[in-house]
Amino acid sequence: MHSDNDNVKMSTFSFEYQRIPMSDLSEPDRELCRRAELATGGSYSPYSNYKVGAALRLTDNTVVAGANQENASYPCGTCAERTALNYAQANYPQVAVEAIAVAAAEVNDCNDDTCGHRPPYPCGLCRQALAEAEHRQHIPVKVLLVDGDEVIVIPSALCLLPFTFE
Ligand SMILES: [Zn+2]
Repeated sequence: MHSDNDNVKMSTFSFEYQRIPMSDLSEPDRELCRRAELATGGSYSPYSNYKVGAALRLTDNTVVAGANQENASYPCGTCAERTALNYAQANYPQVAVEAIAVAAAEVNDCNDDTCGHRPPYPCGLCRQALAEAEHRQHIPVKVLLVDGDEVIVIPSALCLLPFTFE
């Protein structure tokens, strides 16, 4: 995009990310992805049937996992990422989060083509929550999104939410 008006300042927001075969991940990151996959077992998702797990690794190597928790009153529900993040921040307030892995269980009972597989991209609320965690702790939160046999690796949660509310 270009402007002919000299008073208009153009800016760009972009970031680089990687798509890495699971087998090529570092051992700690691969383990974190495995913990996220295991955490989908704790999902309570009778309304969406979308089971998501998240696992956080703290800088002292503590791993905290969570899963999405839905409710008949839909807004009460909480995503896997915030379930795990809130637990970590409540129980380890002095320890920074260095990485989060997110995985979704395969949806088996869908028989139309519109619900094809998608990586478990965090929703806007979770992006905001992760961004604030980064601001609080002054180190980036690496985001690992499990996509089948590959993992999308994003170097900082702030990449996912331009113009974060502060
Ligand atoms: Zn979310």
